[in-house]
Amino acid sequence: MLTRAEMRRLLVARGTEQEELFAASRTARDAHWGRKVVTRGVIELTNVCRVNCDYCPMRRDNVRENDTYFLTGDQIVDIAELIRDSGIDVILLQGGETPSVVPALEDAIPRIRQLFGGHVEILLNLGNLKRAQYARLRELGATSYILKHETSDPELHFSIRHESLETRLRCMNDLLELGFKVGTGLISSLPGQSLDSVIDDIQLAGELGVSMCSVSPFIPAPNTPMSLSPIGDNELALNVIACLRVSYPHLLIPSVSALERAGDGGQSRGLEAGANVMTVNFSRAVDQKRYLIYGKDRFVVTLDHVRGIAGKSGLELRGSVFLEENVTTGGHVR
Ligand code: SF4
Repeated sequence: MLTRAEMRRLLVARGTEQEELFAASRTARDAHWGRKVVTRGVIELTNVCRVNCDYCPMRRDNVRENDTYFLTGDQIVDIAELIRDSGIDVILLQGGETPSVVPALEDAIPRIRQLFGGHVEILLNLGNLKRAQYARLRELGATSYILKHETSDPELHFSIRHESLETRLRCMNDLLELGFKVGTGLISSLPGQSLDSVIDDIQLAGELGVSMCSVSPFIPAPNTPMSLSPIGDNELALNVIACLRVSYPHLLIPSVSALERAGDGGQSRGLEAGANVMTVNFSRAVDQKRYLIYGKDRFVVTLDHVRGIAGKSGLELRGSVFLEENVTTGGHVR
């Protein structure tokens, strides 16, 4: 476990010191997880959101570019079939924060489980919902849930998300109590965020009892109040990944597409910095254009891209770590 003083030094490391940090991080990852990358397939369910985050083009007040959509249960199951046929056993169902997605999921989740004969991790990323709704989704067969704290600074959190950190953490607690494997996540280089605040983010990820944590550099997106803010520093995000890994080797840490957006080869460097998860986008082309995660020119991750960069790092693709059978077989992606 790194001390705060060590993190303060390592988060700004460059050159040889940064390479040594990445090497230590890879050693921690490989010792805990082996030389493997968990592969997920994501389906983007809706671009409708009740929240108004200042950095996100899917925010409630952006009515200029948002051509809204909701997938039906049938559409979700059809895409899940494509993911299964690729040999991926982690289905990430994500969308804007709205309880209106729940009925389609009530239809789709049991059918997806059937499609995989029960051997599937159903991972949700749907934001704050009521505890009873989380319980219902868990009952239907959802395994895991991503609910990012984004920033652990309560004032910064409220000023850019217009939602309280406290509510977010309460929802996270509900998920943990209901038996979900939970993932958190942070945004680095947010305007107004100090290095100490990033260290708080890292330490919070270790204290929450979660199994996963993502790190995304801030990306200024069009049609948002933060569109003119400077793009986040990829090097800082990579150093955060490495500090997280060295401090908490048990975490699943994705190499996210925002790293690619902030710099060529960013996802490859994410793996070099110690990440061990990659997500392939299976949304229909028409919906990829409408799911404005960083605006219209987002980087869409394909299975070939994942294979290419994992291969370059000498890593093998694998399936869910939360499914019992993978404990012994290591679940391979075709
Ligand atoms: S970041 Fe998530 S919660 Fe915030 S506006 Fe965008 S989709 Fe909604």
